[in-house]
Amino acid sequence: MALVHPPSPEEFFGFRMGDDGKLARWDRLVEYYHLLDERSDRLRVVELGKTTEGNPLLLAIITSPENHKNLDKIRKLGPTLAYQDGLSENRAEALIAEGKAVVGMAMSIHANEVGGAQMAPELAHELVTDESPEIRRILEETVLLLIPCANPDGNVMVVDWYEKYLGTKYEGCNMPWLYHKYVGHDNNRDLPLQSQVETKALAKLIFEDWFPLAYIDFHHYGSFGGRYYIPPFVNPTDPNVDPLLWTEQQLYGGAMIMRLEAEGCHGVENYAGFTAEFNSTYTRVCTWHGICGMLTESASAKLATPLYVHDHQLQPARRGRPEYRAHVNFPHPWEGGWWRLKDIVKQQKISAYAALEVAANYRETLLRNLYKKARRQSEKGRTEGPYATIFPPHQHDPSTTLKLLDALLKLGVKVHRVDEDFVVEGATYPAGSYVVFYSQITRPYLISTLRERFYHDNPWARSTDGAPLGLQDIAGYTLPLMMGVNTVEASRPFPVKTSLVKGIASPKGSVTAEAPNGYVLDGRANDSFRAVNALLKEGVNVYRIEDMVKAQGEAYPIGSFYVLKGEGVEKVLGREAKANGVDFRALDNTKRFKKREVKPLRVAVYQRYYGGNMDEGWTRWLLEQYGFEYTTVKDEEILGGLDGKFDVLILPSDPMAMITGEKLEEYFEKRWGGMMVMPNYPSEYRSGIKEEGVDKIGEFVEEGGTLILLNEASEFAIEGLKLPIINCLKDVKSSDFFCPGSLLRVELNEESPLAYGVNDDLSILFQGGQAFTVKPGHDNDDYDVVIQFPEENMLESGWLIGEGRLSRKAALLDVRRGSGRVVIYGFPTHFRCQTHATFKLLFNALLG
Ligand SMILES: [Zn+2]
Repeated sequence: MALVHPPSPEEFFGFRMGDDGKLARWDRLVEYYHLLDERSDRLRVVELGKTTEGNPLLLAIITSPENHKNLDKIRKLGPTLAYQDGLSENRAEALIAEGKAVVGMAMSIHANEVGGAQMAPELAHELVTDESPEIRRILEETVLLLIPCANPDGNVMVVDWYEKYLGTKYEGCNMPWLYHKYVGHDNNRDLPLQSQVETKALAKLIFEDWFPLAYIDFHHYGSFGGRYYIPPFVNPTDPNVDPLLWTEQQLYGGAMIMRLEAEGCHGVENYAGFTAEFNSTYTRVCTWHGICGMLTESASAKLATPLYVHDHQLQPARRGRPEYRAHVNFPHPWEGGWWRLKDIVKQQKISAYAALEVAANYRETLLRNLYKKARRQSEKGRTEGPYATIFPPHQHDPSTTLKLLDALLKLGVKVHRVDEDFVVEGATYPAGSYVVFYSQITRPYLISTLRERFYHDNPWARSTDGAPLGLQDIAGYTLPLMMGVNTVEASRPFPVKTSLVKGIASPKGSVTAEAPNGYVLDGRANDSFRAVNALLKEGVNVYRIEDMVKAQGEAYPIGSFYVLKGEGVEKVLGREAKANGVDFRALDNTKRFKKREVKPLRVAVYQRYYGGNMDEGWTRWLLEQYGFEYTTVKDEEILGGLDGKFDVLILPSDPMAMITGEKLEEYFEKRWGGMMVMPNYPSEYRSGIKEEGVDKIGEFVEEGGTLILLNEASEFAIEGLKLPIINCLKDVKSSDFFCPGSLLRVELNEESPLAYGVNDDLSILFQGGQAFTVKPGHDNDDYDVVIQFPEENMLESGWLIGEGRLSRKAALLDVRRGSGRVVIYGFPTHFRCQTHATFKLLFNALLG
């Protein structure tokens, strides 16, 4: 049966993609891709799952009809070449000869970066209808994995927002809240632990199912620099990444910039802005796995509304393009004028074609490169250190260790379990240990995330005046330290019998049958807090043990939980043990011990507008994951007074200006240096608690409330509540102090209830953080220092300039104030919900 020609996007949506004032919404986009699937034998739509808010997450596979018939065979080639498993060179060559070049492209993961999702229907339509030899060859040689929108929930929110204000003076203003229910912009920083459903689905697609040769995502950047950033990245670079990756980036980027210039797109830059250093975005995690991960960044208009830009407003890039004038990596500066979504759609589509053209032209070379990268990385892992990271079974929090191993598996990392006791460099490790060998294609990723990383401070890392350049992400991404997982590195090979792990089973959980003295639950395990919250909801009395106790012969430290035997209790414990993978174990004797009852607290989390606050979203996510109930409060609730309604108020990490809504223009100017302007929000979205709200929060504390200030919100204690505390890092120049997301060793005051269950061998992630001193006064004893920086040698991973400024300063203060309390965290306790080691510092403040 002949297929009816599919309609063009213009025919289907009623406008051309990128037309002024027009945005396609996800429900219509979904219909359109299904229609292309129905009417074409070149495109197949696959639903990868549902998003957080229940929208379908789609993949459109575009290739020739012949390739569609062989798709399963084509699909397997990527994982086969990458993960090898004894693949001989002859066999590899045979596979390469008949293989296809698979390229992934993901659109608009950041939903207000609307270009990608609007461009893709045109690209897809042309690929399924064009009969030119060029397109036919692309379809024969390549398979395009098109993610038409990597954040459908965000697309729906942004389009609805845009349409609501179309034709008003607020037209084109960015949305005032996060464009993902929980994580906003961090949806592109979630890969290491894959917390969100969208990340899980895309990780499976990339690392398990397909292992494409290249992966490109389409973004927007500011409005006042280049018009279009394309690959490659700019220096500095990570020497552990296989050099073939940077050369492949040059090939793709070279084809893109040539086509763009030839087709009249000006202001295109490469080797600028975005560094070839590790971070947890898709493009970097792909590259560190051996997939050529690339991004493009289009200058932003005002969503679908044009923006006028004066020539004199155009700025250099902070890295790689020191002036706004022609350079070899910026051959044709744009001269200003109107900037439209249509321009963005055009440039993105040209670069997408260029990438497909490269994949088609160099199909065999690129496939062979993948094989070589895998071979070279495996060889390196066999012949030079590090050889392996060992995860011994005895851990402070064993289930968190399993979470890390599971996350590694889901990114294609090979994990082994050791079947016998074994010796490494003189130390013996028991059977049941897990081992990750570095002899695999993911080696650069393992080096970046399992080991301490000392940032290479070189000329690329500093501006001409010597000041360190801000990083695109954190400097030390060492997951075991962030998660409190004990690992040992093998710097020499060691013989051992292992089996490859296929999956990590969650702990089963158990309840000791005979417990005449009641039950003990380990306070060191994060998952215990979820179990405790569940028990409290069931009306079970739970106590916090404030002594050392023993259960079934094993010592439990201060801060473990205790549950009395009782009618019906065992049944609830059985259920919760299973649900949470925790063990309720019989207390050994009836010797008296100190304990206090745990009371559920009424928790409020403050939420403001101005684009939303990711830390607020992550805070909600964390609380929900561990069963803490909370209520979101906005300005009205705070101004109405919190007394009697809540026990705890959390102010997520935020500068003072964002909390109060005062001096905001000043703040935006300081933060973005003219590259971003403060959005013109409708008045109901210009949030801020103002001075009146500050006073209300002060009263809440005086009358017995607990105020929790996270990271940047610490400023509130000083500026708002006027506590006699000094932030020693306020207004310090970056050349004097610089710590762009590094892991720092700290000293823990184990007497503090906030420290219960926390490992005293602790590193905190210091990112945008503070360091405090308390001004000498008569009530010094009202200020408990829970965490302080050591005298020196605190850097565990990352980059730290000016360590002396932190020396012996407080990082976490627990302050008694009136009848209440202020808990001031000078660092993020749950950065992207990846710092599991410090979750309990917050949890402990939420259990009365
Ligand atoms: Zn982006």
